Amino acid sequence: MSGATPLGPGREFDAVRSLLRRWGDRAAGIGDDAALLDVPSGARLVVSTDTSVEGVHFRREWLRPEEIGWRATMAALSDLAAMGARPLGVLAAIAVPPRWRELLDSLGDGVGEAAAAAGAPIVGGDLTGAGELSICVTVLGAAERPLSRRGARPGDAIYVTGRLGGPRAAVTAWQRGETPRADCRERFARPVARIREGVWLAAHGATAAVDVSDGLLADLAHVAAASGAALELDLDALPLLDGIDAAEGARGGEEYELALAAPDDLDTARFSRELGTPIARIGWVRAGAPSVSATLRGVRVAAGGGWDHFS
Ligand SMILES: [Mg+2]
Repeated sequence: MSGATPLGPGREFDAVRSLLRRWGDRAAGIGDDAALLDVPSGARLVVSTDTSVEGVHFRREWLRPEEIGWRATMAALSDLAAMGARPLGVLAAIAVPPRWRELLDSLGDGVGEAAAAAGAPIVGGDLTGAGELSICVTVLGAAERPLSRRGARPGDAIYVTGRLGGPRAAVTAWQRGETPRADCRERFARPVARIREGVWLAAHGATAAVDVSDGLLADLAHVAAASGAALELDLDALPLLDGIDAAEGARGGEEYELALAAPDDLDTARFSRELGTPIARIGWVRAGAPSVSATLRGVRVAAGGGWDHFS
């Protein structure tokens, strides 16, 4: 393997060797005690970690192993996108129960494909036994002008990328014992972190951003709190997959789209032309106590109700 230091004997290392063979050139510098990375001069190092646990974030019967690996990796990369950072590398720590051992290679393929799609080399990881499958993905990135949740200013507009509602609709269908619609299933199983979009937005005046992981309303509540501002949303302007209700689209999590604040002259036409991703203006930042309020067909709707893992 190019760029990898040879590993010693043992079953764990056999499994690691197998993953490394499958990752090929997507893995870099693995085999030493730690990875060495260069951060471009003038950039900040941006780091995040995200864990996906069987039975909490997905069910085995919903997804193929490749999709579980892809999804866990993209969910972590999405936090780099929200910061306007370019990926430098990915580390995957996988806890594998015995019943999952023969699927580990397929799981690893999904991790490798997602990392490659985001332009991130796999620079390290860890394998261990466990009672439940868990994939912890740590992402490293670089940003000259990182976005945070803190910068939204009164007078900014609020935007969201993509079209919402697919992942929640897919999970609802599965929970009812039904087969989800193909486009909704795809949005749940194969999310794409908006990396290029985040970099573009950071370079074109976005003042704050968050990725939609717990639900648009819940995630924007963090922006409101961090920025000390009142956010007013017009849910009639929400971009949705066909047939999705706006109230559902505003609450569904695991979208991995970006919600952001930016001056209202943000060039959305140019954004969509250059990146091929839709973006819609859905509200305004106002002076006031931190809050998120929303109207739908002119009527005020309750803005609470995202996904809370501890509830
Ligand atoms: Mg996030």
